[in-house]
Amino acid sequence: MLQQTQVATVVPYFERFLAAFPTLQALAAADEQDVLRLWEGLGYYRRARDLHRAARQLVLEHNGDLPDDPDVWRGLSGVGRYMVGAILSQAFDRRLPIVEANSLRVLCRFFGQTGDPRRGPGQRWLWETAEDILPRTRVGEFNQAVMELGALVCTPAKPRCGKCPLASMCVARKQGLQETIPVPPTKPKVIEVREVAVVIRHGERVLLVQRPGTGRWARMWEFPHGALRAKEAPDDAALRLARELTSLGVEVTDEMETVRHGVTHHRITMICLGARKRNGAFRSGFYVDSRWLTPAELGPYPISAPQRLLARRLVEGSVQRNLF
Ligand code: SF4
Repeated sequence: MLQQTQVATVVPYFERFLAAFPTLQALAAADEQDVLRLWEGLGYYRRARDLHRAARQLVLEHNGDLPDDPDVWRGLSGVGRYMVGAILSQAFDRRLPIVEANSLRVLCRFFGQTGDPRRGPGQRWLWETAEDILPRTRVGEFNQAVMELGALVCTPAKPRCGKCPLASMCVARKQGLQETIPVPPTKPKVIEVREVAVVIRHGERVLLVQRPGTGRWARMWEFPHGALRAKEAPDDAALRLARELTSLGVEVTDEMETVRHGVTHHRITMICLGARKRNGAFRSGFYVDSRWLTPAELGPYPISAPQRLLARRLVEGSVQRNLF
């Protein structure tokens, strides 16, 4: 949960998750839809699916134990070098390093590494160095200490070198390079995307559709949505998307709201329109399942955060029905 996400955000999710799945066996036995529902809002849903799959692997192949064996962990879904080091150094005192943003910064500054530590030779140097400096025992505590030093003392801006226990041996400090090491990561260009989502009503019910098993938001549910084409009016896009994605003929009835959100380097503006089903039956080359549900029935389905906002509006009945 903590990958790419701050502790303060994670705490309530973590507590709810552990209350629902208090043991590895409980998580392994859970339905993936319930796991996704409890993860909903944290984003990067692949982490939830990997965690669930890894729990199943451990229960099926290792009796539900957490083995003291790096090779087993390397073979689990979603477990990379960082996680192997984090789990095994702390749980079993294995001599394995952890490299994340904080320890990366401390090591680069301490050794005066001016190259890019995130790729190529710089990355190799980083992991080798992180391993070389490990103590023989209390490895987990050592790893924690380096990360903590990076979080509290060797901070990205204005590191507190005067308070740093490594100050007398730090190359960056000697050379006055604290602010330029490590080289900042190259940020991908932000891409603006305009989308239309269409909430199709049929009597008291709305159409919820399930995404395929691969790609973004895999197996989660949503209201049909897609990109707005250049010069296309939102209500025309709603008719087109309903036809292309659900095979339904609809009539646009109201503008619900506009939701702005970000996904990786995409900045998405989603115009949400209400519509009434006129004809046809659900058939889709993209979505794998569909349900006609009352707003009150939307709760248990895992839905991405921006679409949940829309679902909540339907539940609250506070949808503005501004007729065009
Ligand atoms: S002396 Fe300064 S730059 Fe060097 S490790 Fe300590 S806080 Fe970071």
